Parts: sequence; C-alpha cells; structure tokens
Amino acid sequence: MPNILPQIQTLASHLVNQIAAGEVVERPSSVIKELVENSLDAGANSIVVEVEAGGTRLIRIVDDGCGIAKQELSLAISRHATSKIRSLEDLEQIGSLGFRGEALPSIASVSRLSISSRQADTGHAEPNQAESNNAEPKHGWKINARDEQAPVPDASPVGTIIEVRELFYNVPARKKFLRTEQTEYKHIESLFKTLALSHPHVAFRLIHNQKTIYQLRSAQSPDEQRQRLAMLCGKDFANSLIDINIEIEGLRLTGWVALPTFNRSQADMQYFFVNQRIVKDKLVSHAVRQAYHDVMFHGRHPAFVLSLEMDSRLLDVNVHPQKHEVRFRNSRQVHDFLYGGLHRALADVQPSQQLDSPAFAMAGPDTQSPALPNISEQTGISFNRFASYPASSGRVGEQNQAYAALLQTTESDQMPPQHEQQVPPLGFAIAQLKGIYILAENTEGLIVVDMHAAHERIVYERMKQNAAEEDVIKQPLLVPFSLNVSQAEADLVEENEALFEHLGFSVERLGVEQVRVRAIPALLKNADTDQLIRDVLSDLLEYGQSDRIQEYENEMLSTMACHASVRANRTLSVSEMNALLRDIEQTERSGQCNHGRPTWKQLSLDQLDKFFKRGQ
Ligand code: ADP
Ligand code: MG
Repeated sequence: MPNILPQIQTLASHLVNQIAAGEVVERPSSVIKELVENSLDAGANSIVVEVEAGGTRLIRIVDDGCGIAKQELSLAISRHATSKIRSLEDLEQIGSLGFRGEALPSIASVSRLSISSRQADTGHAEPNQAESNNAEPKHGWKINARDEQAPVPDASPVGTIIEVRELFYNVPARKKFLRTEQTEYKHIESLFKTLALSHPHVAFRLIHNQKTIYQLRSAQSPDEQRQRLAMLCGKDFANSLIDINIEIEGLRLTGWVALPTFNRSQADMQYFFVNQRIVKDKLVSHAVRQAYHDVMFHGRHPAFVLSLEMDSRLLDVNVHPQKHEVRFRNSRQVHDFLYGGLHRALADVQPSQQLDSPAFAMAGPDTQSPALPNISEQTGISFNRFASYPASSGRVGEQNQAYAALLQTTESDQMPPQHEQQVPPLGFAIAQLKGIYILAENTEGLIVVDMHAAHERIVYERMKQNAAEEDVIKQPLLVPFSLNVSQAEADLVEENEALFEHLGFSVERLGVEQVRVRAIPALLKNADTDQLIRDVLSDLLEYGQSDRIQEYENEMLSTMACHASVRANRTLSVSEMNALLRDIEQTERSGQCNHGRPTWKQLSLDQLDKFFKRGQ
C-alpha cells in the first residue's frame, strides 16, 4: 500500500495526445496511413509518399488536395478538431476515411511535424507580408507543431505537404519497439500498395531514400487498373484474374479474384475495401475462405483485390482506433452476398467461359501476342468461337460406379476429329502418355490433361450434385449422446432444430446447458460428430450461419471421388479419353482438381514454335 493516497488529476494535454498516439501511431507505416487518408479525404488526385530510413527519419506526404486555410492550420493539430463530421447524424453515415480528429495531434505529439498548405483560391498572401521585389509571391502558409507560433508564409503549391521527422524522438520506449529500417520500409511498401489499390483513380508515387520505387499514373479504365495491379502484385497474379462485378440489393462487389491455381502460402495478397476503406474483417475473410473452400488445397491462401460498396448508414466504421475493422448492420446479408457471389464466380470458370478472362484472351493467337509458356497454367485459349458447340451428355450412374461413367459412350465420340469447325475447346484426344496424361489437339495446338486430377473433379462435382438432389440419409444412433454447451448455444439448438433436421441431424435441448444428439447424417458416421456440432454452433453464434456440415460432407465426397477416379497407369481408349475431355468442358470448377491443382494445360503452336525456334 502506498503511504500517500494518489490525487486525481486531469492529464496534461500533450500527455493525452501521446496516449492517443499509442493507439493510432504504431510505427511509421501507420503514420503514413493516417496522412494519406487525410490527403484522400481532401480530394487529392495525386499523392507522393516520401520516406527516409524506413520512415524513422522522415515521412513527407505531398498532395494536391483542397488544402487548409491559414486560420485553421493550428486547429488541424489540436485534439478533437475535424472538418469531417459535425453531429451524431454525420457519425452514423461517414463518407470520409477520417473522422476522429485524432491523427494529426497524436502524430505531432511524438515527432517533429510541420504542415505547409495552400488552398486553391487563396491568391496571394496578405499584401503587407510581401517581401523584396524579386521574392517569389507567397501563396501558402506553414506551421511547425512544436513552436506555438502563428503560420508563416510559404511558397507551397496548391495542396498540402506534411512532414514528420524523427518519429518517437521524445518517447524512447516506443522507439525501441521499432524494427530495422528495412522491416519498417517493408511495412510501408505493403501499406502503399494497399492504398494504391484502394484508390485506382489517384496517381501515387513512393520514394525511399531519394529513390522512386513506384510511380503510378491515375488508372481509369479497367485495363489501366489491371496494369496497376500487375505493377503492384506481379504479372502472375494479373494473368490469373477472374473479373468480379456483382450487385444485389444495394451491395456492389467489384475487383478480381485469382484463379485457384494461383494461390499463396500466406494470406499476403488479399485486399479488401469497404467504401474504399482498407478493411481486415473476420466476417469478410470467412466468407471468402468459404467461397474458395472447394477449389483450394488445404493450407493455401487465395489472392484477391475486392471492393465492396454499400450505403454508409449500414456500416459502422467507428469500432477500431486504426479503423481496420468495420461492423456491418446486416452482417448475415453481407456474408451471404460475398460467399454466394464469389462461390458462383469460381464455379463458373470453365474452359468455354474463360474467354472473358483477360489472362486467357490476352495471350490468344487472335491478339498476336505470343504467350510465354508459363505465363499461367491455362493460358492462350480463346474459346468463343466454340460457344455453340453442343453439350455432351456424359450421364452418371451411381456414385460409386463413377468409373463406369467414364466408359459411357457419348455423342462426342462420333465427332469427326478432323473437322475444324467443330473442334471443341479441349480438342480431340490423340494419345495417352505413360498412363497419366491425355494428349489432345485443339485449334490452338496441344492440350495436356492430368487424367486422374480431371476425373476426380468430375466425379466429385457429380457426387455433390447427387447428394444435394437426394434427401440426406439419417442414421439413428444406437446410443444417443449428450453434449455440454453454453446456454447461448443450447438456445441456438432449440431455435434451429429444423435446420439441423434438414441437415440430417436430430439434436434437441436437454437442459439449460445440455443438448442430446440422436441421429446424424449417414455420410458422416465416421466423422467427429461431437466436434462438428460444437463448430457449427460457434459458427452460428459468430456469423449467423454455418457451412461446416456441408464442408464435412464435401470432404467425405472428395475422398470418395479420389478413390473412385481413374488412377494413373490405366490405359484408356480414344473414345474414353474424348468422353473425359467433353466432361471437363461441362463440369463446374473443372480447371482445378479437388486440391486446387490444375487439371489441364494448353501448349499453343506459338509456344511450341518458339521452343523449336521455328520461323525466327
Ligand atoms: P480527421 O482526419 O479525423 O478529421 P486529422 O487529425 O487527421 O483528423 O486531421 C484534422 C483535420 O485537418 C482534418 O479534418 C482536415 O480538415 C485537415 N487536414 C488534415 N490533412 C489534410 C490534408 N492533407 N489536406 C487538407 N486538409 C487536411
Ligand atoms: Mg485523418
């Protein structure tokens, strides 16, 4: 026990700001985030981010936005001062990125900060300030946050320049937490990319230690935006894009997702924006992960750049000091919209539909730009001319006789292979290689198909379809078991009995914190049902919905499909091979096997000619 009772005191304002800085200013990149957001809010068309020594020595942001009036300069760096909201009503429909009036005073309290700014219509500085005859006319004003002096005239261009020098010079404890300059710079670069992707219309430039690292012109057209993406995220990503443009009931999602065959070991190429705000949101990543669930190898991460636009009144952005998280008023609707739209988009990637994807069209022979062999897994095909090709019937028998499906004769077998006009997208089989690959010829050149991978996907998709069409078969348990759960979870069981019933479970509430399971779906008899029900309940609590049971079933089906599919080293007849090719063309998600590996690849004549140095 201390001898002297501490006295309650109001904190000094600079200390208040330093405490606030603890939340907002974690490292140089977070300073840049706040400053660039201010520039964007000021309507800038062009923003330069200049840093020295990983941002620890200098951060300078130059914008051509609306500028700050002379008399407001000192207000800008005082606490709780903002031009962006005035009332609670404004707070409930925020259209700007900032609104807390905290960033500038916080940053100023832990660094040496100066602002030079000039508004477009300012004209000249006050006449009596004009200096000698030869001096340049002064149009703007500058203040240093530290010395409490009136603004001095400054020859700045229209817009605002904010300089932050020696971050954390007066808070050694925080300075110690900074990493090496190189690491801090990496954070800055990654943030810069994210900002540049969130506002494609704005021109951006990044300078590190006097060297320009990125110079991005304003990107207006979809093509220019794709170029910006290629510059920031690499050509491989840019060559594997599926365009997304979905709008339902006031929610609009635009941008790109990468084909599942372009995946990452880390979640490092995932960009999500809500009303152009950078957002890292659990609900969003859950929805996206689920959309990819069926086409991505476990432990791999999809790549995407997605922008959601919605009514700002249905969105609460005031939930996180660095504004990373948002809260959706109708989270269930947003989740379903994202999941549904992306799931559909991924399912729709079939050979005959890839013609719309620039990655595919770009390298096509029609555009005269020969593709590099490894530009993407399945590049170089334009299938539009085959759009009217008749669908093959490839009917399926019983799930476990999937093998037989392959042997079924389809109309396409009778197709005359040599007739140019009727060559289907994946062409006609010419040979089988080592019992593993099918070689086929189409108009572009050679198609190589991984037999097992392709067949596995086809069988799996059919099994899923059959499973969805038939009623779930329930298996009553000889000995029902009970589970201890939280009260909220038991409530959920009680409210959702019908839902569980529909999924093939009989679950009922036993007590305040206990439920009993009497039957489970037959397909899941070997699963860890206990854990499954717990997971479903926690999903229902957190996201208002759960696809876990479906996921488990799909996993089972996927394993079964794998066993039922053509194993390597089986000899197929030409008509069997052609049947398989037609099936791939007709099957959803057939570009990848169940584990996200590609199932086929085009080697165009151009590529082959290049390889053999023909016509050079
Ligand atoms: P907030 O962005 O939450 O309003 P800040 O502390 O970041 O709070 O900025 C305070 C105010 O300073 C802003 O509301 C804005 O009026 C002004 N301001 C800051 N940066 C700029 C800029 N680059 N251009 C024009 N005005 C700016
Ligand atoms: Mg701000």
